[in-house]
Amino acid sequence: MIEFHDVSKQYAADTTALRAVTLTINKGELVYLAGPSGAGKSTLLKMIAAMERPTSGKVTVNGTDIGKLKSAGVPFLRRNLGLIFQQQRLLTDRTVLANVMMPMLVTGLSRAQAEERARAALDKVGLLARANAQPMALSGGEQQRVSIARAIVNRPQIILADEPTANLDRDSANQIFDALRAFNKVGVTCLISTHDEHVLDSGARVIRLVQGQLQAEAA
Ligand code: ADP
Ligand code: ADP
Repeated sequence: MIEFHDVSKQYAADTTALRAVTLTINKGELVYLAGPSGAGKSTLLKMIAAMERPTSGKVTVNGTDIGKLKSAGVPFLRRNLGLIFQQQRLLTDRTVLANVMMPMLVTGLSRAQAEERARAALDKVGLLARANAQPMALSGGEQQRVSIARAIVNRPQIILADEPTANLDRDSANQIFDALRAFNKVGVTCLISTHDEHVLDSGARVIRLVQGQLQAEAA
């Protein structure tokens, strides 16, 4: 489903973010992407969403070669992706429900259908009761769960989460991981980056990057 073959990414002559990364993530897997800040985790995730292109090597997502993808193809790729990135903040001028409905406004669903799905998504992250709240009235962990609801409302095949628990306390972080694991249980492929390895569940597949290099996976 996601394949990196000998992928390197150089931003500038002196900034190599990824070095000859080769990996395969199969449909339905839950994979943690670990490594210190600056290791290349965001870069790897962004490549899957065609937000960055490989300098060399090949990235394929559902058979699509990201390096060759034309800009017109990007929306089709992203339709299958649920992105939870730090840059994608909630809009503070509208309710939680309106935030979660946003991705559906362009899909042709009726308002009633969109609202029903948005409520179902909020229910899955345990925040249906806060549908009419303003985002700023929520805790950081709750806001992040709203972001997850917004990312999954279009039922993507793949969830990409970039440090979804950064700045959250342990309990809030666990709730985020629980929500992501629940989506994985119903078949959604999940790739979640974190620099905090304490939170990882034992037995999970962990991919570790150090200075852009993939470390051997523990068997
Ligand atoms: P992580 O997510 O593990 O913190 P990143 O992928 O954000 O790592 O960054 C890897 C390296 O690439 C870092 O040295 C970072 O400064 C650099 N980098 C990331 N994005 C850019 C960019 N847009 N332009 C230049 N350098 C970048
Ligand atoms: P993140 O934890 O998502 O990597 P950062 O604060 O490192 O967040 O980066 C924020 C944005 O700036 C990202 O889009 C990243 O790609 C970009 N970026 C990171 N490092 C650099 C850099 N050295 N030069 C230019 N852009 C960078």
